[in-house]
Amino acid sequence: MATMMHDDGAGGLLDNLAELSNLTSETILDQLKRRYEANLIYTYVGDILVATNPYQMLPIYTEEVQEMYKGASNKQLPPHIFAVADRAYEAMLYSQVDQCFVISGESGAGKTESTKKIVQHIVELCRAGNTELEDRIKTVNVFLEAFGNAKTVMNNNSSRFGKYLELRFDRSGAVQGATLSHYLLEKSRISFRNDGEQNFHIFYQLFAGLKDEGRLEHYGLAKPSDHNYLRGAGAPSDEQVLSSHFGQEWREVMGSFEFIGFAKGQTNSMIDMLVAILHIGDITFEPAPHDSVTITCTDKHLALIAKLLKISFEELKNAIVATRNITRGELVTRNFDEEKAAANRDATAKAIYARIFSWIFRSINDILKGNASHDCLVLGLLDIFGFENFKINSLEQMCINITNEQLQQFFNQHIFVYEQEEYKKEGVDFSKIDFVDNQATLDLFLKKPQGIFSILDEESRFPKATDLTFTEKCTAALTSHPSRAFKPPRSQRDLCFTITHYAGTVEYQSTNFLEKNRDTLSQDVISVLAASTDPLVSQLFDPTANANATVSTNKRQQSLTAGFKVSLVDLVKRLKQCHPHFVRCIKPNAEQMASRWEEDLVSRQLTYSGVLETIKIRKMGYSFRLPFQEFVTRYKIIAYKFHENPMQSSETCQVICSHAKLDDYQVGHNKVFMKYNHAEVLADLQREQS
Ligand code: ADP
Ligand code: MG
Repeated sequence: MATMMHDDGAGGLLDNLAELSNLTSETILDQLKRRYEANLIYTYVGDILVATNPYQMLPIYTEEVQEMYKGASNKQLPPHIFAVADRAYEAMLYSQVDQCFVISGESGAGKTESTKKIVQHIVELCRAGNTELEDRIKTVNVFLEAFGNAKTVMNNNSSRFGKYLELRFDRSGAVQGATLSHYLLEKSRISFRNDGEQNFHIFYQLFAGLKDEGRLEHYGLAKPSDHNYLRGAGAPSDEQVLSSHFGQEWREVMGSFEFIGFAKGQTNSMIDMLVAILHIGDITFEPAPHDSVTITCTDKHLALIAKLLKISFEELKNAIVATRNITRGELVTRNFDEEKAAANRDATAKAIYARIFSWIFRSINDILKGNASHDCLVLGLLDIFGFENFKINSLEQMCINITNEQLQQFFNQHIFVYEQEEYKKEGVDFSKIDFVDNQATLDLFLKKPQGIFSILDEESRFPKATDLTFTEKCTAALTSHPSRAFKPPRSQRDLCFTITHYAGTVEYQSTNFLEKNRDTLSQDVISVLAASTDPLVSQLFDPTANANATVSTNKRQQSLTAGFKVSLVDLVKRLKQCHPHFVRCIKPNAEQMASRWEEDLVSRQLTYSGVLETIKIRKMGYSFRLPFQEFVTRYKIIAYKFHENPMQSSETCQVICSHAKLDDYQVGHNKVFMKYNHAEVLADLQREQS
């Protein structure tokens, strides 16, 4: 990237904000705002791309634009997501090193859209006459959005899972295939949604789509509002569901199933399972003597569920209200109380959904795989759930926010290390430069044995523990944690605690943490489903198939956070093998509206996303650097007569700097390293002399 100074006076818009001579949060905000108003949504800050969500279709993704950005690395073009894609692809081929894109930003900032644009451009770059992979990836997106996305208060089409797409190329850059991994589907959404939010799109699509296919007779579905899982403040009205885009989307999903090559029978089983999930949500109980429950919905209702899942009606009925264990050769039945029965019901629905989701991913990977070869180059694209801070934050938000915390650390490391390397190369002393490290906050969660996750797992294993004992143990162990990020509840009996994340302070409600973390599905339910006569249902619950991380043949199932930790470690490991390219998505307003700029909101995002942090690093370091030749040409007038022609050497640069009385600068092997404000000092002196 050019390190030249551009005019950044009034009115001047900069493509790269690292060129601002006066680097402050105000000047950066001002630039971004004016660029946004001019529909220039992309801006570089050094080698990071900042992308502001326009919330409107701009004509900047056409074939012509795409053509223009081919080989962008060698052209002087305005910032663009295509340019970043191009640069990474070039770098991969040139250096033969794997590359990755780390796309971050809060929910609704435009991460998923950015990912799609990068894929679009890269597939174009390596097209070589076939569009097969592109078509497949597009088809896959239809699925992912139907099953993995939902309307939230932050984003009408919010991804409720993280994904990492790895595109594989041969050494000459021809695409070979792709692999898609998913992280942490928010399956709790099936049974619980905050106000103003909806369930996964697929359920509404199903209603609209099955209109003429025996929706009532075969599936027992009359209208969405009949079902608990589709009710709640923020649910669309029946009218809205049945007469909107959902019907068209359902047809697209069905088309994708066909394209991907699912057998008709498999598709039907999947539909039956989705319908069964809705009916499971309507199973009701009332308390009965001895802490047990009686089922209050009709036998007909249960029979329909049994029919859809092709399981035994009697066994289903038993598994819903009790567990049966063989202890010392005797069959012992343990009844559920009302709370446990409801939790078991919801766990069943969530498990079915999560396993459909994983199964679809496995099938997708089969068709994306292409030619498997060990000798290949990888371009990875990470699109995760952004930082979240709602009125009520639970274990799901905690996992989401830790993932973001981890990515922030990856970012800091990279930027800092990168800066250090340049100094080392130039022989510049960099001992004074420091950065805000969030490792301690990560330790607060992940470190054994005194991190929040360890304490949570420990308590989850202990039958007598409660959400309160968990909160108390955290308070005792972490209140004086070196990260200083943990704040205990105000009153001892409160089920909450506060964490200061890099991106803001979040209060977590620890209600249900233990239950959510145990994530247990009763063994009886698993057995009933595994015995289904439907091949797909039984396959998904087959305890001997270990393809699914949440099923374990061990007595003890893996806890939610233990599984999460494993995938987080795996993700970081993969990212570290690549050269990263950062895209920072910014949300200009909370209303998802075009042409609306909310200064405070943007400012907050810039602060925590590390854009300002990066700039701080540059401020503490030597952000203004010029090669000797350029430095002498520009500033010799400060120390020499007009007609003098000093050597363009390090000595001459020293002379000029001491004449200018610069306080803290360094002369490297090829460049002069100055502070961000020195550009102005020199420019003033230069004007005085000429
Ligand atoms: P995130 O994945 O960060 O939560 P999305 O990528 O889903 O956010 O974007 C949210 C919405 O913003 C999209 O549904 C789309 O309407 C709009 N959007 C995002 N990026 C763009 C873009 N580059 N051009 C036009 N609209 C966009
Ligand atoms: Mg998304």
